[in-house]
Amino acid sequence: MIYLFCGILSSAVLGAICIPLFKKEDTLESAIIEETQWDLLQRKKEVILGNIQDLDFEHKCGKLSDEDHQRIRNEMSAEAAVVLQEIETIESAKDLDALIRREISARKTRSQPASPTTSCSSCGASNPPSNRFCAECGAKLKR
Ligand SMILES: [Zn+2]
Repeated sequence: MIYLFCGILSSAVLGAICIPLFKKEDTLESAIIEETQWDLLQRKKEVILGNIQDLDFEHKCGKLSDEDHQRIRNEMSAEAAVVLQEIETIESAKDLDALIRREISARKTRSQPASPTTSCSSCGASNPPSNRFCAECGAKLKR
């Protein structure tokens, strides 16, 4: 009877672990390859953490000896640490990437008003100051 109870509870725990996987929305705008690797690592993390929870639960239910529990738990924790480290590496790279993109777009908007244009006296089109003739009508531009 107690085993049945354990079984029901552990599947409830498993269900609770799986739910966040489906709820997760991908709003990050990074490269697809990075995204899928990150997703993969996230799933891996969830699985490992779930396994640790299950392990603790089975130990609590008396299905595992203290020794086995400790040994397997250490292995799983080491595995989880590796995955977490990998996730952190990807996330810090993402931040850097986003930061660079922000910097570049900030520079672009800053440099735009600084580049003057020469208006054509015959058609009024804006031309870069380096142009000697209007790109629109071909008239000679006054400098
Ligand atoms: Zn012109």
